[in-house]
Amino acid sequence: MSIKGEKVAAKLNRNLKMGMVGGGPGAFIGEVHRKAIRMDGGIELVAGAFDINPRKSKQMGRELNLDRKRVYNTYVEMIEKELQLPVGERIDFVSVTTPNNWHYPIAKEFLESGFNVMCEKPMTMSLKEAKQLQQVVRKSRKVFGLMHTYTGYPMVKLARDMIRQGDLGKVMKVVVQYPQGWLARPIERSGQLQAAWRTDPKQSGAGGCIGDIGTHAENLAEYVSGLKIREICADSNTYIKGRRLDDDNNCLLHFNNGAKGLLHASQICIGQENSLAIWVYGENGSLEWHQEHPNYVYVEGLNEPTQVWKRGNDYVAAKSAGAGRATRVPAGHPEGYIEAFANVYRNFTDTICARLLHRKPTELELDFPNVDDGVRGMAFIETVVASGKGRQKWVKLKS
Ligand code: NAD
Repeated sequence: MSIKGEKVAAKLNRNLKMGMVGGGPGAFIGEVHRKAIRMDGGIELVAGAFDINPRKSKQMGRELNLDRKRVYNTYVEMIEKELQLPVGERIDFVSVTTPNNWHYPIAKEFLESGFNVMCEKPMTMSLKEAKQLQQVVRKSRKVFGLMHTYTGYPMVKLARDMIRQGDLGKVMKVVVQYPQGWLARPIERSGQLQAAWRTDPKQSGAGGCIGDIGTHAENLAEYVSGLKIREICADSNTYIKGRRLDDDNNCLLHFNNGAKGLLHASQICIGQENSLAIWVYGENGSLEWHQEHPNYVYVEGLNEPTQVWKRGNDYVAAKSAGAGRATRVPAGHPEGYIEAFANVYRNFTDTICARLLHRKPTELELDFPNVDDGVRGMAFIETVVASGKGRQKWVKLKS
């Protein structure tokens, strides 16, 4: 059984200091980030501009027991005041957990002010903004992480490594699905906070469901298969009358090695919760992984009994160093969603620490989604939207 090795943060003789934008009272994902960073120690939340409403930002700061002086009215004030603190006391990085329309301006300002950034997905509102942010990241020489949670699961890393090591042979077909049912009614009209902005093009971007969860499926498919989506033929739908963005997508995919695939992302599938799952079919075998049962990878060979690989066993770590590193507790004790966030944070913050210690981050440390994944995600959204709306059905994904 493998347990976490030495924490790089320990070598700094201090915790990394984190700030947060978003994640105010009643928000969803900010609290998940806060839970995840507590999991391994080494990261301390010290500052925030938690809500679009300054009064609620202060309320959140009180609930979190933060120093009042470091709970800010706006992210702009946060940058100004944090820069006045000595290095080592000021935040080392900020996590951006606001709705999509704020990701770009906030990430850009922090990067240009010399802070590392962890940003929620989808990265920006458009591919153009995404490419601009890519330039900002490169110029800043700061560490940028993108919270595509699902690549943080140990068994996803195992699946990726099995394919990398050629266990399935050449990949011929990838099927990925992300159905949910929570937007099967127009709950945005009755003030449901998370539904309201997700269905508003000014806050969500050109994609609704395809940006919200389709990008997770796209990122998972490319990460696990090691392939790139080359072109897409999309059937995008809005089932709820009056809704301004898509709530259902059925996409055919062509990959760069000639493999074919399917991606289905929908928020009107009653009964489905977070049924993200992937099947990869190779010339010699196949594998599958299901987010709602994340501790198992199923591997099939022709005319062979199904193999069930179970998280936490030494044979998993022996096959995949990344999976071993992302595992905290022994086999049979389930790990899941919050651990996946913690794993993305671990690699992101170990990379920051490596930089602070003037050494090159290792390949394992660098295994977290970055700005290039964000550009792919935005190119994916725009390609699906173009194909879904246009007369030309096969559209090239250009990133
Ligand atoms: P939410 O509506 O629950 O919370 C958003 C919070 O951001 C609120 O507290 C709001 O007041 C605050 N906010 C908005 N603008 C702000 C600003 N300018 N400054 C400070 N605070 C501001 O939204 P959510 O569901 O938590 O989603 C937030 C982001 O996280 C979205 O981009 C979403 O796509 C992403 N998300 C990612 C995952 C994942 O698995 N990685 C899951 C859910 C959501």
